[in-house]
Order: sequence, then structure tokens, then C-alpha cells
Amino acid sequence: MDAALRAAGRPAGSATLVAVSKFHPAAAVEAAVALGQRCFGENRVQEAAAKFPPLRDRVPDLRLHLIGALQTNKAEDAVRLFDTIEVLDRARLSDAIARAADRVGRLPALLVQVNIGDEPQKAGIATAEADRFLRTQKERFGDALRGVMCIPPADGDPIPFFRRMAALASAHGLPDLSMGMSDDFERAIGEGATHVRVGTALFGARPDTASPSDTGTGTDAGTDAGTDIGTGAGLDHPGAVAGA
Ligand SMILES: *Cc1c(COP(=O)(O)O)cnc(C)c1O
Repeated sequence: MDAALRAAGRPAGSATLVAVSKFHPAAAVEAAVALGQRCFGENRVQEAAAKFPPLRDRVPDLRLHLIGALQTNKAEDAVRLFDTIEVLDRARLSDAIARAADRVGRLPALLVQVNIGDEPQKAGIATAEADRFLRTQKERFGDALRGVMCIPPADGDPIPFFRRMAALASAHGLPDLSMGMSDDFERAIGEGATHVRVGTALFGARPDTASPSDTGTGTDAGTDAGTDIGTGAGLDHPGAVAGA
């Protein structure tokens, strides 16, 4: 990251490493904390709830980002647990987060996830709706709306997508730009990423059968409308907490 920042002429420390610890046991997080890492990303509310609270008691400056699809019925748990929710991508979820924040008395930082490649299988607001959605979320959440997040299409050159994301953040005056993963974080930093979400390159392959670049998309498909209501808490990913 330091080298990529230097190459981009950016100041040292101007991008934050979000260490993606999904599927890895709490011991892996402990090891990273011992090395000085403080910011972590998790895909699932339930898995994070099982792993992080004991650590948070001991490591007060630990920061937790939600980077995987969020169902409205878990919004309150997410608002309690996470410092940043990177996956705000639809009006119903916005409503649920706003209601939960009122109840809980805590509003995390929020990033709007943009489906920058307009891929049908991916979560995120459609690019054609992004400007309008960002405006309404800014009106609603004010400065808590910190920025935008994306997962560009898996194949091909991510740079045009990174550039579009940077332009979007800049057009809306948003400071945070979350993009770049193990395979492309240097390029994302070159295009202005303030947060890179890196899992495999830090922790190794995930000890789970889920496809490594499923990047939350495996849960995304079902999270809009339909399953927001019907999915029983705790049943959506039985394997996810096995190591916690
Ligand atoms: C899993 C995941 C990552 C990390 O991916 P790696 O390729 O392991 O670095 C980043 N972002 C999101 C949204 C993810 O779900």
C-alpha cells in the first residue's frame, strides 16, 4: 500500500487497510491485532457478532466495517455492531438503518454501494440511479454519509470503473472511496481509493467452501425485496460461523 501511495504521489497513510476477516476465526483477527491492524471488514452480521464483541472490549480503537449484503431485518444488529456500513444500496435498507439508528441511538458511517458494472448478480445501486440515491441519502444522513464503495466486474480492467467511482465521490463531495481487493488494491490506490478491502492477501485462502471472490455477491441475489422478510435470523449461512 505504501508503495502504491508513493507511486500515485499520495501521502503515506492516506488509504486505510480494511482487513477482510470473513470466514477466518477470531484467532486470525487476534493475530492481526497483535501486529497493529485495527480496521476489519466482515460480510455477515451474525459472524461478526460472534467474533468481535470480546475483542472490542480489549481493543477500544478497533473499527469494524460491514462489507456484505445487509438484510433489512438485521439492520438494527448492524447499527449496533459496525462502525461503518459500506453496503447501503436501496431505499428500504436506508429506511431500516434510519429507524434502527433512532432506536439504538447510534448511527454508523455509511457508504453507498454502487453496482458500477451494472451486473445483474451484484448488489449495489444501479449506476443510472446513483446520483439521485446519493443525494437523497445525503439529505437523510448528512455527514454520516461518508462515501461510496464498489466491487468492479471480476474480469477485465478495473481502472475505468475505479475512475467512475472516484468521479462519483468527488461530484457528491464525499471523502471515502472504498475500492480495491487483494488482486487490484494497488490500482485502486492509484485511482484514489481511501479504503482498500483486502482478505486473501493478508489471511490466505478463506477456510470455507464459498467461492473466494464471491465478495458478498452470493448473498446479494436474495437480499432485496423477497428475502428481507422471510429469511430467518441465523439461517442464511450456517457455515459462516463454524470457526468463530
Ligand atoms: C471478501 C471481500 C473482499 C476481500 O476479497 P479478497 O479478494 O480476499 O481480498 C473485499 N470486498 C468485499 C465486498 C468482499 O466481500
